[in-house]
Amino acid sequence: MSTLTDQISQRRTFAIISHPDAGKTTITEKLLLLGNLIQVAGSVKGKKADRHATSDWMSMEQERGISVTSSVMQFPYNGCTVNLLDTPGHEDFSEDTYRTLTAVDSALMVIDGAKGVEDRTIKLMNVCRLRDTPIIGFVNKLDRDIREPIELLDEVEEVLGIAAAPINWPLGMGKEFQGVYNLYTDTIHVFEQGKNFVLGDDIRIQGLASDEAKEYLGIYYDDIVEELELVRGASHEFNLDDYLAGQQSPVFFGTAMANFGVKEMLDDFVKWAPNPLDRDTAQRTVAATEEKFSGFVFKIQANMDPKHRDRIAFMRVCSGKYSKGMKMKHVRTGKDVKIADAVTFKAGERVLVEEAVSGDIIGLHNHGSIQIGDTFTQGEELKYTGIPHFAPELFRRIRLKDPLKMKALQKGLQQLSEEGSTQVFFPTRNNDIIVGAVGVLQFEVVAYRLKDEYKVEAIYEPVNVYTARWVEGSEEHLAELKRKANDNVAIDGGGHLTYLAPTRVNLALAEERYPEVDFRSTREH
Ligand code: GDP
Repeated sequence: MSTLTDQISQRRTFAIISHPDAGKTTITEKLLLLGNLIQVAGSVKGKKADRHATSDWMSMEQERGISVTSSVMQFPYNGCTVNLLDTPGHEDFSEDTYRTLTAVDSALMVIDGAKGVEDRTIKLMNVCRLRDTPIIGFVNKLDRDIREPIELLDEVEEVLGIAAAPINWPLGMGKEFQGVYNLYTDTIHVFEQGKNFVLGDDIRIQGLASDEAKEYLGIYYDDIVEELELVRGASHEFNLDDYLAGQQSPVFFGTAMANFGVKEMLDDFVKWAPNPLDRDTAQRTVAATEEKFSGFVFKIQANMDPKHRDRIAFMRVCSGKYSKGMKMKHVRTGKDVKIADAVTFKAGERVLVEEAVSGDIIGLHNHGSIQIGDTFTQGEELKYTGIPHFAPELFRRIRLKDPLKMKALQKGLQQLSEEGSTQVFFPTRNNDIIVGAVGVLQFEVVAYRLKDEYKVEAIYEPVNVYTARWVEGSEEHLAELKRKANDNVAIDGGGHLTYLAPTRVNLALAEERYPEVDFRSTREH
């Protein structure tokens, strides 16, 4: 039996950050394949019909063929237990995507080699930066004509503000793609065109200077040797400490579709990626290896099973061990609860968890008492920090079809905002109710659930809000802001003073005009 510390040190809990269509789903499938979780890539998510059978829980989801539900995938690899947290990406991009990143210890950034660093990646990277999360990069789609690799790395450095250290280097691209050269092991990993392998043949040539390498690269050999010399001279050398500090990103090149370069990346990922990190609470720092159990809730998901109408609270275990039937203290309410039915998710299905250790994710059944950010412990008064609300990027005014349903609307919105499905703002100058979201689907989910669960029919109207900022400062300064900028001030669902800016310029001006006031883009729970 391995000790608790051993078990914890084997955990690698991460998420994938990428722009839609960069290849997140494809690489996820290949990772699960390498972890022996699925036999043939494509069987988990690729076929929409299969997905409906397992993971979809809401009719709206089925109609759209998307998954609002993000799940957790766990697989063993090279002596480690890897937890991959799915980050909703396409239309289902939401605040949950951001908050999932607060529950991981590292991230994998997938970049489309033809497109480079895209908008969504920048946003997700900004969230990772809040905690200096270590990031490994994977430049995908080398089987196509991509942009110059050097240019891509420059873009990562400039746009994302993180040093990039290539681990391997592509030998050609598109139709001329011959494989990758590992700068650290001096090995060529041979790519065979037209072979869309499931678990690829692993053909390697040791030594760039070898006759075999010369023969393999043929007329390209001299150019490649020269290019690699240049790359070595001009790029950062990989440094584990810098990676762990979130300052440098080791970058791999490959093609997820052909399952080429994914294994190489995963091998190094489990070697380098941090095991569960110590975490801050308002009271003290908790070591991941402490005996006593603790964890926090980063996501609440409703109606996963329409028959039961329950909600699942996703908890990241931060110390010790959960075992079935144990007693936990729900710190915010002060209540002790016995938990015997925590679940985990295997290919969309719920499975009862017997045991989970620091780094793992478990789902608790929630009948309305659990909120995002809640801490559970074995008795100690702790409150985990660093699980914020993120400023919404989209806003709508919400209006009732039947004005008599105001109470039900307010109750619904309050609960949905506590759950993290949306955010709600009440401007001080009128009786509007403004709903804020990070992804556009959140509005539809809210309308759907208001109707379904609270029997309220609501409609959205456009509203002139560009962004929200939570404001902090002395009483005097906040009073001045309220007085002078009354048109832009609102109270959010949690009772916090907020500034709603109609434009980017307006926000900049407000920040200039009220230098004593802190305009924050996140708010702690
Ligand atoms: P996601 O939106 O990030 O999950 O992206 P997907 O994994 O669904 O991939 C988007 C599209 O790119 C799909 O059509 C994939 O088949 C394709 N794709 C993914 N990886 C590769 C690759 O390595 N090479 C090529 N040519 N296409 C790829």
